[in-house]
Amino acid sequence: MTDTGKKVVVIGGGFGGLGAACLLSREGYDVTLLEKNEQVGGRASVLEDGRFRWDMGPSWYLMPDVFEQFFELLGERVEDHLKLQRLTPSYRIFFEDGEVMDMTGDLDTDAATFERYEPGAGERLREYLRLSEYQYGIAMRDFVPKNYDSYRDFFSRQTLLEGPKLHVFESMDRYVSRFFKHPKLRKIIQYTLVFLGSSPYATPALYNIMAHVDFNMGVWYPEGGIHEVIRVLARIAKQQGTEIRCRAPVESVLVEKGRVVGVQTAEGIVQADIIVSNADMHHTETQLLEPKYQTYRERYWEKRKLAPSAFIMYLGLDTQLPQLEHHNLYFCDDWRSNFAHIFDRPAYPENPSVYICCPSKTDPTVAPPGQENLFILVPIAPGLEDTTEVRERYADKTLSLVTEKMGIPQLREHIVKQHIFSINDFASRYNSYRGSALGLAHTMRQSAIWRPGNRSKKVRGLYYVGASTNPGVGMPMCLISAQLAYKRVMYGK
Ligand SMILES: Cc1cc2nc3c(=O)[nH]c(=O)nc-3n(C[C@H](O)[C@H](O)[C@H](O)COP(=O)(O)OP(=O)(O)OC[C@H]3O[C@@H](n4cnc5c(N)ncnc54)[C@H](O)[C@@H]3O)c2cc1C
Repeated sequence: MTDTGKKVVVIGGGFGGLGAACLLSREGYDVTLLEKNEQVGGRASVLEDGRFRWDMGPSWYLMPDVFEQFFELLGERVEDHLKLQRLTPSYRIFFEDGEVMDMTGDLDTDAATFERYEPGAGERLREYLRLSEYQYGIAMRDFVPKNYDSYRDFFSRQTLLEGPKLHVFESMDRYVSRFFKHPKLRKIIQYTLVFLGSSPYATPALYNIMAHVDFNMGVWYPEGGIHEVIRVLARIAKQQGTEIRCRAPVESVLVEKGRVVGVQTAEGIVQADIIVSNADMHHTETQLLEPKYQTYRERYWEKRKLAPSAFIMYLGLDTQLPQLEHHNLYFCDDWRSNFAHIFDRPAYPENPSVYICCPSKTDPTVAPPGQENLFILVPIAPGLEDTTEVRERYADKTLSLVTEKMGIPQLREHIVKQHIFSINDFASRYNSYRGSALGLAHTMRQSAIWRPGNRSKKVRGLYYVGASTNPGVGMPMCLISAQLAYKRVMYGK
């Protein structure tokens, strides 16, 4: 490492910000990371209450290859820092008619399950996953780890030749229906889109790479929880020389003659030659920059399609729930109307789909012995009314759904801890636009060249990292975005 003599300020300590800090400080930049909250992690923060501990956001450790590659860039090995376990089953699905099904991540077993619902579906699952694996290879080579500067970067010869052949530009819903007729099977294949904050009716089949990620690569868990990954990144960043300051919200980005010179905080000015903002791009552009320096003004954001927000309950129980696995998904029957309430006709869904994470099934450190920690998440539209009364009503509704439709009647009487996190919290804790949980949805018009780029078009020295920019939402994507921001800073492309 040679000292570049250049000072970098990273705004925000989520996956993208910490990742960029690690890479840049390793390269000899003098990096200071300023995080507004009391801890780093951003959406991947941790909440503790007594002997219960909850990951507040992400809970699925997917695409282990991306983590491995990122650690390699830092001269580290994942296995020296994290104890990963592949979950079996990968997850349990509860259908509205009371049926329960496990997806195991073992292809023979899962194909046999599919076959029971629809003759030939087992073989078609294999075919679907072969195609998905092939597309994953192309995506991870040519599209995902890429800084886009012009349309030519996206419309390569291969995209033009292979895209239509593979039907990747039609909707996921249409694509999946070519393979499976049974509504339950279609739901299982399409649910992975929730990781991207999108609906199967508006997402290009480009993203069916997620099926390969889920079925073939498997669902993993780092001992101690997802926040453990954040702890490791923060430790490496510090070892490389990054100074991390929490409770240090940036109030504005300071610009002179079209170039960044620093940031204003309550404690004073922190000078910078380069700024990498990991705060949501809407926040940085519209709140931290003067209008003349904004590449994307308020009216740009008003026209964007946002990913859902979430109504989340963190519960501590003084008993164990034998009905649950580590990951549990409840799929309501009326899938289309549920998505419409999230994306097209915003309202609290009366009969929502629900996700429950129960990491105490795998990890004894997250709850006292014989007890359970639960994370219950209902995807909802961003920007909905979020008051104490609304929360109480919706918490009651969610618990009723879990007890009655998922068959867990003992739930309510065993709750000893309860915290709710919803739209207003996303907005106030993370400065998230309209309280979206994930940021911009992955529609075709908000992917690749059409997603906001990671370099300001108005201010020299200002870069972006994290879910707002390319490649997009999710921990692995944010680590890739850190590499893309690093390339911009180092090489300009
Ligand atoms: C409920 C939920 C479940 C999820 N599940 C999964 C999952 O299972 N698997 C997966 O891979 N991904 C999941 N995700 C997505 C994933 O967590 C995010 O895409 C990713 O963590 C976002 O990282 P980021 O780099 O964009 O930074 P963020 O996490 O958005 O962090 C940005 C940071 O900037 C800080 N900041 C904002 N404004 C300022 C300011 N003015 N000054 C200083 N600091 C500021 C914020 O406080 C925050 O810490 C989930 C997300 C949520 C919310």
